[in-house]
Amino acid sequence: MSTVAELSLPAATTNASAMQRVVSTVFEEVENRLSLFRAESDVARLNRQAGSNEVAIGRHAAAVLAYALRVAEESGGAFDPTVGPLMSAWGFRRGLTNVPHPTAAALGEALAQTGWTNIVLSSHATPDGAESDFVPLADSAHASLRLAGMQLDLGAIAKGYAVDLAYEAIRQQGQCDDFLINLAGNMRGLGTPSAARRGWCIGVRDPLHEGAWLGTIMLNDGEGIATSGNYERHVTINGQRYAHIIDPRSGHPVKEMISVTVLAGSAMEADALSTALFVLDVEQRHTLLEKHPGCGAVYLLETDPPRLLVTPELRERFVPAKAWAASCEYLDGTTPPGGTLNPIQM
Ligand code: AMP
Ligand code: MG
Repeated sequence: MSTVAELSLPAATTNASAMQRVVSTVFEEVENRLSLFRAESDVARLNRQAGSNEVAIGRHAAAVLAYALRVAEESGGAFDPTVGPLMSAWGFRRGLTNVPHPTAAALGEALAQTGWTNIVLSSHATPDGAESDFVPLADSAHASLRLAGMQLDLGAIAKGYAVDLAYEAIRQQGQCDDFLINLAGNMRGLGTPSAARRGWCIGVRDPLHEGAWLGTIMLNDGEGIATSGNYERHVTINGQRYAHIIDPRSGHPVKEMISVTVLAGSAMEADALSTALFVLDVEQRHTLLEKHPGCGAVYLLETDPPRLLVTPELRERFVPAKAWAASCEYLDGTTPPGGTLNPIQM
């Protein structure tokens, strides 16, 4: 996945290397099945058959696609796993940072090849027959992309899914109740602070100040957290930077947002929502979060000066860094809570 993975454990953990192997194995399996760049992955096979044949896909692709379609619908298409042609048009697939501006014709063609409603996924059942957000054991399914030239790109959700799978794998081994998995800022673990453990205090990066934090969030058992940022990947066109998150409704990279951090019930939920919320406007962000009870977000807006916004769910959970404490805005209209947390372990 061209990124860094971390497994954090208390120093006294005895079976650390066994757990590390479990996590690596899970990540490799997910990459083999979901990477755009592995010729035999389910995603690459689907993309090769775009506009023609249905493809048999494994349980990982089926679970991720089902959830991606849910968030695509809930977000009115702001989240769209078929952004592949737009990513290519904006020059993200060339391995270069300086690229030419796409022509209007190229953008028009890419937009015409984008659209989650043209994904067909045969329904799949969970082991107990119930619908579920997280479906690790679903039978394999069939899927197809209706339009020639369509390209699935699960880059906004696959890392969160991989983290959830690794989290479940470690838990099923039953040997560790204090760990944190971090795949490129997509995190999940066990470790609610108690007499027996310190807990995982997550520092939310301040992209405007090297080495600084916007604030911290203590993670509770099983919660997922993810950040989407305009600083993570970008291309430069005529001296101007364009971020890697694209509004599929306009076909243009999003300009108004610097970063979005989401706390959710799983890493996949946090991953998908952070990308979707990055694209949406203020009203639409509220509407999407209402469909995900318990989830909260921290937004850093590209305004002058930049604004740091915190949703009500994180009112007591997000502790702004000193530099932001005075300007941080709470979306329920209250003032910031007092006090700061010092230890930042991540
Ligand atoms: P993330 O870092 O999780 O926000 O994911 C960003 C990645 O998701 C990009 O590098 C693209 O591969 C893909 N992507 C870009 N825009 C969108 C979008 N609007 N909906 C879904 N995926 C997107
Ligand atoms: Mg994401």
